[in-house]
Amino acid sequence: MTDSFDDNDAFAAAGLRLTVDLDALVENWRDMAHRSGRARTSAVVKADAYGLGIEDVGEALYLAGARDFFVATADEGATLRLYAPDARIFVLSGIWPGMERVFFENDLVPVIASEEQLTFWMSVLSDYGDYPCALQVDTGFNRLGLPMEDALALADDVSRPASFAPVLVMSHLACGDDPANPMNRQQLEAFRKVSAAFEGIEASLANSAGIFLGPEYHFDLTRPGIATYGGEAVPGIANPMRPVATAEARIIQTRFVKAGETVGYGRAMQLTRDSRLAIVSAGYADGYMRGQSSGGVPLRQTDLPGGHGFIAGHRVPVAGRITMDLTIFDITDLPDNLVRAGDYVELFGSNILVDDAARAAGTIGYEMLTSLGLRHERRYVSEEAEE
Ligand SMILES: *Cc1c(COP(=O)(O)O)cnc(C)c1O
Repeated sequence: MTDSFDDNDAFAAAGLRLTVDLDALVENWRDMAHRSGRARTSAVVKADAYGLGIEDVGEALYLAGARDFFVATADEGATLRLYAPDARIFVLSGIWPGMERVFFENDLVPVIASEEQLTFWMSVLSDYGDYPCALQVDTGFNRLGLPMEDALALADDVSRPASFAPVLVMSHLACGDDPANPMNRQQLEAFRKVSAAFEGIEASLANSAGIFLGPEYHFDLTRPGIATYGGEAVPGIANPMRPVATAEARIIQTRFVKAGETVGYGRAMQLTRDSRLAIVSAGYADGYMRGQSSGGVPLRQTDLPGGHGFIAGHRVPVAGRITMDLTIFDITDLPDNLVRAGDYVELFGSNILVDDAARAAGTIGYEMLTSLGLRHERRYVSEEAEE
């Protein structure tokens, strides 16, 4: 490759490409901040910013004003630190022996979520002195977090060292995406006790869905993830967020196939009419999940119809089984000569919403985004930056 072969050429030539609309991302985050009312709004950028790239996403949100970030691991925090110089970065999986250095060097705040971690953290403080932490308290999710009683006892413990200085106490909702579920209120009541016990320390409960539950759930800091990335926070209501990610795959070949013939592995689809098919360069290794096949996937719930792509103004169904690197779409209903090899099919984006693609695969937008794989040529677009 020569030097003149720049990124745009690579994008134009890519078999598989992902466009991330940073303006939409920032607008969604601001929308979440607006809905969070008086609470401050953080940015959850774990799992490589939900598959969209922690570097570019982290920087865009930092420039938009985010100063609190959540990552899952210390490595993610170390990467983010380069793009969010003076932000507070919380590490949700906490700290373990041997990780002190990466925390201190990158100024990361561990979220202490178990008795073991708390014990270790106290020993870190006695060795190294004051350092901030966050506390996660379990209010019914039964995933991470100190049990309620232990957290309340800790809050009242006058003998705890002065160097123990939590800057945030948090918990996580199990059913935020189901507003009518009584679990939400139970967790709210429990978390109110926790935040009252840790008076003077900031409190955080709401993820994206929790923000939609209303002001009672917002406390001091909200933690939106999926909504910022354009995904559905609350299924069953129109998604007010702008799509952020567009995945497209190139048509490598089109072909005419006679009625009665079968398509692909396992002859999973038999054609009932003379058909035109487009073979595109994306498969399950790229997160285009096999569950979206038109048929022939015995493990899929039988009521799912299979996925669709979008090209030249038309929705086109997946034909047969999705394979590792390739997917076949039925383009018979498109006018002749409208599409040809070299054109791109949208796998998801503003026409096929990521959550609709996910539903066709029997999963959720979160999994679709974080499964994108390594083969997409990525492009980040922003009107604001182009001046
Ligand atoms: C992932 C995560 C979030 C963000 O959740 P979304 O549903 O994506 O908004 C918030 N808090 C915690 C603890 C998380 O693990």
